[in-house]
Amino acid sequence: MNFMEERIREEGRVKEGNVLKVDSFLNHQMDIDLFERMGREFKERFKDKNINKILTIEASGIGIACIAARYFGVPVVFAKKSHSINIDGDVYMAEVESFTHMRTNRVIVSKKFLSEGDRVLIIDDFLANGCALKGLIAITEAAGAEVEGIGIAIEKGFQPGGEAIRDMGYDLQSLAIVDGMDAESGEVIFREQ
Ligand code: 5GP
Repeated sequence: MNFMEERIREEGRVKEGNVLKVDSFLNHQMDIDLFERMGREFKERFKDKNINKILTIEASGIGIACIAARYFGVPVVFAKKSHSINIDGDVYMAEVESFTHMRTNRVIVSKKFLSEGDRVLIIDDFLANGCALKGLIAITEAAGAEVEGIGIAIEKGFQPGGEAIRDMGYDLQSLAIVDGMDAESGEVIFREQ
């Protein structure tokens, strides 16, 4: 078991509706030593890629992306949830269905911060159905930038996002892949990597 799998086994809580709660270390309280290890691991996994920008989505991806960015020496851009109905021409926009909140968010990135020639590493906390990632990929490609890789803390491999993104040809690296979990027993099964 790697460090992320161990931590999930110790503190992750399986909730009804295929939700894994990891708010004691990942997306509410944040364990920065763990984030450092994640950043180091992402750097190792993408060491051959010439990345010049990290892209994530608010809110839970931001902390992970910021620590990872120290290892890559690049800036972080995060897609913002926008409530405005009047989106002007200065932003790239995508509609993202939220897995945990069961609603659609419009997310935007200013054209000032993503452009042709950028080589982007996309980072997020969870991968479930892949909606968040598909939105970030669409924004990157609309900017004429290149998706060099995708780093995820926890992929739920029993949901379709991971397979869909890999089938699209992207280099997707997940620190832990959960292949099954049971709300009643609390059991979590990891994919061998
Ligand atoms: P997707 O768009 O891949 O369906 O879902 C990804 C987003 O939903 C992540 O950014 C994350 O915030 C949230 N998410 C999906 N599944 C879980 C989960 O099991 N636990 C938590 N805490 N967040 C999740």
